[in-house]
Amino acid sequence: MIGTVTDAVGADELSERIRAASLKVTATRRSVLGALSATPHVSADTLFAAVATELPGTSLQAVYGVLTAFTTAGLVRRIEPAGSAALYECRIGDNHHHLVCTHCSAVQDVDCVVGGAPCLTPSDTGGFAIHTAEVTFWGLCAACQASAASGVTAAPAAAPAPAPAPAPAPAPAPAAASAPSAPSAPSAAPAPAAPAHAAPAPAAPTQADASAP
Ligand SMILES: [Zn+2]
Ligand SMILES: [Zn+2]
Repeated sequence: MIGTVTDAVGADELSERIRAASLKVTATRRSVLGALSATPHVSADTLFAAVATELPGTSLQAVYGVLTAFTTAGLVRRIEPAGSAALYECRIGDNHHHLVCTHCSAVQDVDCVVGGAPCLTPSDTGGFAIHTAEVTFWGLCAACQASAASGVTAAPAAAPAPAPAPAPAPAPAPAAASAPSAPSAPSAAPAPAAPAHAAPAPAAPTQADASAP
């Protein structure tokens, strides 16, 4: 499972890194940073579970507060793969990228190809001064490939469908097609924040052309 302060980095070094980011050292901050140092790419919930074993009085809200402060201070990087809760890591400033398994949601680092940010040049910068390129590679991790090859289900968290790669079909834009009168759609449920498995779908169409009858 996830490590704690004492596993990977000493408390003194953690305090030093927090101070170097111009933040006050607290027990919660030190514990969060220690857990993150031991296990990258984890969610706030996972961090909370680790911190709570060390500091039983900690609240999830406190962990979120620490993560916000760390991210703002540049001490921690936050990534948000589509369909996943926000994940946090201490590896910052190197413009590295990520491999994400579409089956078990495992996340791995990939070094920046060129070495400096941004490592990719867009075909058209649109006048932007580019400083970062963030790339997510989607695929099946080695473990999931092995279990697929041997016919054994790899025990991910509740993934009954054996289909390995959810095909991102072009969204058919269901609403706003045949209801000419109703201006508000009260039954349209807003999407929940974090679904379990979502395909890396292309950006939702912006429903611009409402073809008036
Ligand atoms: Zn996997
Ligand atoms: Zn990373």
